Amino acid sequence: MRAAATGAAPRDGGGLPVADTPDVRRYAAQLARRHPRALWGGVGLHLAAAAAALAAPRLLGDLVQAVQDGTTAAHVDRVMPVLAGFLLLQAILTRYAHLASQVFGEGMLAELREDFVDSVLALPIAVVESGGSGDLLTRTSRDVDQLGWTARWAVPQAIVAGVRALAVLAAALWAGWWVALAILPVVPVVAWRARVYLARAGQGYLRTAVAYSRITATVAETAEGARTVESLDLGPARVARIDADCARSFAAERYTLGLRTRFFPVVEFSYVVPAIGTLVVGGILAQRGSVSLADVTAATLYVQMLVDPVDRLIILLDELQAAQASLARLLGVAQVGDDREVSGAVPDGEQLEAHDVHFAYVPGRDVLRGVSLDVAAGERIAVVGPSGAGKSTLGRLLAGIHSPRAGSVRLGGVSLSELPLDVLRSRVALVTQEHHVFAGTLRDNLALASGARSSDARILEALSSVDADDWVSGLPDGLDTRVGSGARRLTPPQAQQVALARLVLADPHTLVLDEATSLLDPRAARHLERSLAAVLRGRTVIAIAHRLFSAHDADRVAVMEDGVICELGPHADLVAADGAYAQLWRSWHGRDRDHFSAPPSAPPSAPPSPPPQPGPGVAASGPVPEDRA
Ligand code: ATP
Repeated sequence: MRAAATGAAPRDGGGLPVADTPDVRRYAAQLARRHPRALWGGVGLHLAAAAAALAAPRLLGDLVQAVQDGTTAAHVDRVMPVLAGFLLLQAILTRYAHLASQVFGEGMLAELREDFVDSVLALPIAVVESGGSGDLLTRTSRDVDQLGWTARWAVPQAIVAGVRALAVLAAALWAGWWVALAILPVVPVVAWRARVYLARAGQGYLRTAVAYSRITATVAETAEGARTVESLDLGPARVARIDADCARSFAAERYTLGLRTRFFPVVEFSYVVPAIGTLVVGGILAQRGSVSLADVTAATLYVQMLVDPVDRLIILLDELQAAQASLARLLGVAQVGDDREVSGAVPDGEQLEAHDVHFAYVPGRDVLRGVSLDVAAGERIAVVGPSGAGKSTLGRLLAGIHSPRAGSVRLGGVSLSELPLDVLRSRVALVTQEHHVFAGTLRDNLALASGARSSDARILEALSSVDADDWVSGLPDGLDTRVGSGARRLTPPQAQQVALARLVLADPHTLVLDEATSLLDPRAARHLERSLAAVLRGRTVIAIAHRLFSAHDADRVAVMEDGVICELGPHADLVAADGAYAQLWRSWHGRDRDHFSAPPSAPPSAPPSPPPQPGPGVAASGPVPEDRA
């Protein structure tokens, strides 16, 4: 499903892209072609069922003719079992035809879901962050549900109705060409109304889906920030915002409802005309002796039989429009341009180099303005500076989460964006304060770092290396214990140890630590410091304003201010130089080490990040490169 990056896909309301109609039709046709046996088997069985259903009007027509011509009760008795036999055959064929179409629908749905999951997992993380969770959530829930329903019910029903309508129409015309005189007049009217409807319904359903995305985003955001909402009394503002989203959704729903209420009455009316027309035209022709009573009866019954499949098709048209909008949104995810240009080049070593890097979240507003930093393999760098200086942004670029707007970030001489994601993650990892525990077993949570390669022994070893043996050995089912949402809740320090154990298993050479333990209470942080020290041993480390990382034990300290590195060097040199770092250091050094605060010189709106804590730090436990020893 991952389409070539077009970059031109339309975006609904600034969220993720939406595929255009030709792409949606092409994909649906491709999907259908992947299951030729199920598709054509289903169509064949429906055709056979429809053919069996055609026998009844013909037999009844002949019976009416026979009664007119004078028949015997014995003849009627002979016809009735034949009629019953065809009805039974039709019932049996219909049962298997439905089964075949359901299997076809389920197969399509399963592949669509797999394709969609692949596309979502391949999304660049920067796109997931900027696209908004509401949009992605609505696509993965409401749009997938809509398509599930369509694939399970609407597509099989449309196959049934389409095949039946064609078969019955053919039988009606077979009964007499004159039936066309009764049917043809309504065709242009229905075709015109359907055209008008189809031209507007697609966009209408897309707007409805976007409106739902907004509601989901606002509700999710409000629930996530419930404490902030309550403490700042933002309740009324949030309610007003949800009301506005609901009003938009209401308007979108009303629009599509309006389209339906204008389309369906015309269609309903058009059902009556062919049946009356057939009776009138057939009656006139029968009186003139041009057609038999049997043909008029059969043709009228056939035309009446047309109403049901055509009606169903038209109702399904509406469902298919909604499904097309959902499919366009699911396929749109695959059209997000890849932010990587994998070249196949292999890094020569683990040296990380940022050269003249510029980066902007918003076009025209660079938050990194020409940053250059070379990190030798095994080196430990502390990045400090005031809040908003661009430290986290630099960390994300060094970890390859974002690509620079200008300049380059290279690992062993290869640009990070040229490395396949799995290769990049096996070499460079970003560790933040978010430690997600996935719903599943503890083993699943750890094995995902290294695929299926990890044996239980390796997993337990990794947990033990981050000091987690105590609580892990106390778990009722060991590695099989279910954790995460809806199961055993891990405490924040435990979740962090799981995250660190994942790192041990993934074994990247370079770690970018972005305030990885800053949310924890100092006692837990000190305990985790030991765990972290085990993880950091022997690796290249770039630590951002990290209280566990000792700036004065780091090989070098980079001081950032306003998107540039203004000072870079070993702690002692920077203190001796008596610049910005020395000032930060002095202002902090006299304070309580667990309570960082801005130095007097910093503006209140932009407090500096604390200089890292001196004392026994993780850097001291790792090897120092020879040239720095
Ligand atoms: P802190 O210590 O407070 O985390 P920092 O030095 O790490 O600050 P960054 O988080 O890198 O600074 O932010 C640098 C600038 O980029 C800030 O002006 C910030 O507002 C802006 N910024 C950060 N993330 C985004 C984003 N996702 N979209 C737009 N602007 C952003």
